[in-house]
Amino acid sequence: MRWTHALIPTLRETPAEAEIISHQLLLRAGLIRKLTGGLYIFLPLGLRALRKVEQIVREEMDRAGALEVLMPALQPPEIWKQSGRYETAQDVLFKVADHAKKEWVLGPTHEEVITTLVAGEISSHRQVPRNFYQIQTKFRDEIRPRFGLMRAKEFIMKDAYSFDATDEAAQASYQKMYEAYQRIFARCGLKAVPVEADTGVMGGKFSHEFMVPAETGENEVAYCDHSDYAANVEKAISQLPALPASGEEASLTPEKFATPGVATIESLAKAPYSVAPERQIKTLVYLVEGKLVLALLRGDHQLNETKLAAVLGTATFRPAEPAEILEAMGAHPGSLGAVQFDKLPVYADVALRGVTGMTTGANQDGFHYRHVAIERDIKVTRWVEIRTVKAGEACPRCGHPLKIQRAIEVGHVFKLGIKYSQALNAMFLDENGKKTPLVMGCYGIGVTRTMQAIIEQSHDKDGIIWPVSTAPYTVCLTPLNVAGASPTLKLAEQLYQELTAKGVDVILDDRDERPGVKFKDSELIGFPIRIGIGEKSLAKGEVEIKPRAGALLAVKTADAVAKVMELIAAGKS
Ligand code: ATP
Ligand code: MG
Repeated sequence: MRWTHALIPTLRETPAEAEIISHQLLLRAGLIRKLTGGLYIFLPLGLRALRKVEQIVREEMDRAGALEVLMPALQPPEIWKQSGRYETAQDVLFKVADHAKKEWVLGPTHEEVITTLVAGEISSHRQVPRNFYQIQTKFRDEIRPRFGLMRAKEFIMKDAYSFDATDEAAQASYQKMYEAYQRIFARCGLKAVPVEADTGVMGGKFSHEFMVPAETGENEVAYCDHSDYAANVEKAISQLPALPASGEEASLTPEKFATPGVATIESLAKAPYSVAPERQIKTLVYLVEGKLVLALLRGDHQLNETKLAAVLGTATFRPAEPAEILEAMGAHPGSLGAVQFDKLPVYADVALRGVTGMTTGANQDGFHYRHVAIERDIKVTRWVEIRTVKAGEACPRCGHPLKIQRAIEVGHVFKLGIKYSQALNAMFLDENGKKTPLVMGCYGIGVTRTMQAIIEQSHDKDGIIWPVSTAPYTVCLTPLNVAGASPTLKLAEQLYQELTAKGVDVILDDRDERPGVKFKDSELIGFPIRIGIGEKSLAKGEVEIKPRAGALLAVKTADAVAKVMELIAAGKS
């Protein structure tokens, strides 16, 4: 490719619309342009990088034995009603109407479609295991599209779906995908760490997210350097030392005391009350599918709504409104408690097990109870794990302190079980001729998000540092004089031919621009190798090879191609 034939609209200024560095660099390097919020156009260079990521994903899926298919983005709502997700996924579901006013949905994911296909095509245990994948456009009505390709309304995903006869076989399929993902991200030059992830309302422990550590990530991962434990904080657990004994006489029973104006853990922790947060019981009220439930936590702990969803078996809930709370409990938030209260189910976090000498609201505004022993005074319906772990708490495996790091989720592997095969009737006859639902797994990679994550992880003050595997072009040839018959342009053209013949992607910067402008652009875009051809070095029979993240090398003209091939090989390994 000759630069003068391309469309590479690099920008000197940082666009105000872009908050994070990878989004800024995507725009500044002329890789993408915004159509409108959450919708982007891939320019030629951006598309080349994207295609390289896609190709790595495709090769590894093929290698793992998955079969490529292509499913429609436009889907009939009936299958979404059948799976139940017409309701539960309504927040992200784009709906459109045709001229006859019939409704359709734009697929945010394809479990319903693939399971419908398999229900029609697979009927015997001899036809499994099978894994189908596609690389295709998804639509999600994200509330807050942001950070460019990271969270868009339309994006490209690789989604794969495995079908097995048994649970064990499904686990083997899961493992294969897990390993394929490790290879994919490694080949993309991306450090992506598998972490245990929430399995949502389906339970089970087979879900991992692949996380790229980054301060701008929207997820938090708790991990331990010592044991390799790593989990999304939506799922992470820790070992928590029991509260020290309260020192109170066991005979003390709940005593109501006045706390005028006190409505927070912090204010009760201050004088004259001075009740340490860990000695308080926090009472939260949620409306779950039309019914109120109480969630109790230690005062110094935070509720994790993802964990609560897993415990409740539904994601359809919200914090109750003050009016709903007042009606059910007779007090406002800040004075709530569950002592001798049996009107609503009580879900108590396991960190409260056995605690005594606690203080909690008295369901009367401006009053609390002290001397509360939870197992004696509160009727706990269920002990559950609903708090968020904090940095410094002990690793559940080895006891060393956990660390917390922000991260970008680039991929997700998930053992689904039979939820969709049952709902959409994907049954097979097992060896005994018995009709049984297929056991499924689903596996996603955000292809466009992965491309941006590479930039988020690999850049410096001058621009992107592409790994060889995903760079739009591997080599940028930069003759400094491009006048008609100049020897520098002639050599550039010769090297272009030789490298192209070896299968290297080369761009020739044939612009009549100052060297500084050319160098800045090639650094901003981040081609892995630049070959500078100037008259001075040419007089010495040399060219200047500059690996994007390495030192300048003066190389004999005749050795230039070999040196580039060597650098590429090193970059690929
Ligand atoms: P998130 O929690 O970030 O919304 P998700 O859990 O909804 O992601 P999945 O349904 O597991 O995501 O989708 C698989 C992959 O698709 C994700 O790991 C992510 O890389 C990518 N992805 C999801 N939503 C978006 C989006 N709005 N824009 C770009 N990529 C996305
Ligand atoms: Mg999402």
